[in-house]
Amino acid sequence: MSAFRIGVDAGGTKVAYGLFDEENNLVGRRQHATPVEADGAQFSDLVVENCTELLEEHHLKNEDLSGIGVCMPSFILFDEGYICMTSAMENIRDFAMRDYLKERLQVPIVLDNDSNCAALAEYRFGAGRGSRHMIYMAASTGVGSGLILNGEVFRGSYGWAGESGHMLITPEEGILCGCRNRGCFMSWAAGRYIPERVRRKAEAFETGMDLSSGPDGVALLQACREGDPLALAELDEMAFYLGVCVFNIYQMLNVNLLVFGGGLTHFGPLLFDRVRAVFDRYNHISLPVFFKSAELKQDFGIIGAAELIR
Ligand SMILES: [Zn+2]
Repeated sequence: MSAFRIGVDAGGTKVAYGLFDEENNLVGRRQHATPVEADGAQFSDLVVENCTELLEEHHLKNEDLSGIGVCMPSFILFDEGYICMTSAMENIRDFAMRDYLKERLQVPIVLDNDSNCAALAEYRFGAGRGSRHMIYMAASTGVGSGLILNGEVFRGSYGWAGESGHMLITPEEGILCGCRNRGCFMSWAAGRYIPERVRRKAEAFETGMDLSSGPDGVALLQACREGDPLALAELDEMAFYLGVCVFNIYQMLNVNLLVFGGGLTHFGPLLFDRVRAVFDRYNHISLPVFFKSAELKQDFGIIGAAELIR
């Protein structure tokens, strides 16, 4: 039986490929910069080329693969492998990517959303091991979640259950998000809108931060550590909306294990103690609710993508 698998993780800055053997060891990898302007066919051609070269490097043929899993920052019709919309690569939309790849590579292909892949990886190999239900919360350039219910990814009717970042909390108010609405949780907590949110608060707080070119998350973290009033106001606001978001998810699903991953986890207790405090302020039933950090390092995307093939 052919049992090698490839996991492809298409992120905002890079596309990573991992080749896994029969025992699930990561035996080969490659990556390239994200082709932000590519359309569905151009992007898929790159995937075909890179998967083919990865196999050749390891003296393998397509027949040696049990499949390729592809993790995309997209709204995907899961059953059809059809991409409706992609956040980092806007020209990849309304595209039957699974069929396109399958025709060229002649192996089973499964496409899924990045938060679902991260959730799957953490559930099987990371902080969610042994639990029945788990929510993966991505706190990064974007905010999103992946839902593991009864040991399986819950995708909903079409495929994007768990897109909690676009749940509306202050409709019409706040920054206009890529989802075309104002006032979703991303408007208030996503890393990509830090510069704009900080600039909006600049008149009300003192600051030593350079507002002409940012600040990005790294500069914000540094300023928070230095006790900068504007930076701390931004941190408090992000924590507030992340805490409310998590609280709402908990109320909706009553899942008591929340695993946080993504770039904002670099803020550590500075951010997450605040998130926890917000959650606890509104939670009036004293049963245990666990907040954990994701355990898998940078490879969670390719691991989760490869896990789609099982
Ligand atoms: Zn949104």
